[in-house]
Amino acid sequence: MPPNPNDTVMDKLVSLAKRRGFVFQSSEIYGGLGSVWDYGPLGVELKKNIKERWWRSMVHKREDIEGLDAAILMHPKVWEASGHVAGFTDPLVDCKHCKNRFRADDPRIKGTPGEPSAQCPVCGSKGTLTAPRMFNLMFKTFIGPVEEVAAVVYLRPETAQGIYVNYLNVLQSSRQKVPFGIAQIGKAFRNEITPGNFIFRTREFEQMEMQFFVKPGTDNEWFEFWRQERMKWLVGLGVRPEKLRFHRHTKEELAHYAKDAYDIQYEFPFGWQEFEGVHNRTNFDLSRHQEFSGKKLEYLDPTTSERFIPYVVETSAGADRTALVVLVDAYREEEVEGEKRVVLRLHPALAPLKAAVFPLVNKDGMPELARRVFDELRRHYNVFYDDGGSIGRRYRRQDEAGTPFGITVDGQSTQDGTVTVRDRDTLKQDRVAADRLVAYLGEKLKG
Ligand code: ATP
Repeated sequence: MPPNPNDTVMDKLVSLAKRRGFVFQSSEIYGGLGSVWDYGPLGVELKKNIKERWWRSMVHKREDIEGLDAAILMHPKVWEASGHVAGFTDPLVDCKHCKNRFRADDPRIKGTPGEPSAQCPVCGSKGTLTAPRMFNLMFKTFIGPVEEVAAVVYLRPETAQGIYVNYLNVLQSSRQKVPFGIAQIGKAFRNEITPGNFIFRTREFEQMEMQFFVKPGTDNEWFEFWRQERMKWLVGLGVRPEKLRFHRHTKEELAHYAKDAYDIQYEFPFGWQEFEGVHNRTNFDLSRHQEFSGKKLEYLDPTTSERFIPYVVETSAGADRTALVVLVDAYREEEVEGEKRVVLRLHPALAPLKAAVFPLVNKDGMPELARRVFDELRRHYNVFYDDGGSIGRRYRRQDEAGTPFGITVDGQSTQDGTVTVRDRDTLKQDRVAADRLVAYLGEKLKG
């Protein structure tokens, strides 16, 4: 295949992510672990900022949504009820010659796996691909000291089920009434066969899910409401709207229990791909849990005395995929004053560091004042102190980290107590009194 010119953007981003401490390969010194990634000092802040913003918008800003943090390990019957034991599978083929494993629908496979004419996309052998076998994507482990079938538990492949099985607990303890929602952020695990594209598809990832319980018959309206809300939220993260679109599931794509579903897609360098979904899951999940647990999960409407199993409108986002969207969208290569720079134009609310403080030179009282400025700022914001190298290089390093403001203490500062504040995007410099910096940044970081 000819080299894909777009690939280089991902290569550059992966290398920046490592160089600046956003994302590292898991267990790198041992050669890495397939499609598992670690977040470094800047990455952990970025992802935390995304999750906090999501939590604030879902849980804190709304009266009708409660938060939850359910355990990763759950009763194995949960996954029978949800359909994951029987159906959370991908068709898989093996090459008997080179031992590589593929999804049966891997576009690189020529011909029909299992037939003599099919060719292995890796070693090129003909007739060595097995017929597709179904492979369950859930990770299994054992609870307690005995590794036997009765002790099998799964690492959850989605956080949603923790919400469904707690729906009554939350309803009763919070005194909510339908319509209401439950939001959760947490790890999920899928033993993906063909993972890849950096943190896009990984075997361990984080989801931000909200399940909204509604009266049947009002589900279409709520579905439409949440679809719009989610898009607004994403645009509010500073993601370029022209890079976002909805993809409505076709009949073939729709899960058997779902009434309607939209993916929210981003135009990654490797094409338009889903990173969030809004689904009308009907009353499938609660009905199944009622059936499998034998526990009544009906809702009694206090005004009409009607009993019903609520419908669920779900918004399901990957925190890691959203982080990738934000990083890809922010990545720019620009020419500034005749020099090339790489900059992450991250929304200030998401930027890992809000500002960096630089003494112009390490003498004449500048480091002392810069330290005082830094100490005051870090009581309020995550800020960074850097006195190494030329001021230009220090600015460039912070551009790559996505830091919105660079604060320089110079000769004038020690005279009149003002500092310069450089805006990462416009490159404009403001002179601001050092004792007004907290308020100044507060104003700029709002929203
Ligand atoms: P895909 O078709 O890409 O496998 P999916 O349709 O199975 O995704 P959902 O089950 O709807 O995804 O999960 C909701 C969200 O969780 C996805 O939009 C994505 O952001 C995230 N997600 C799912 N699987 C992974 C994964 N392997 N790695 C990272 N994020 C994931």
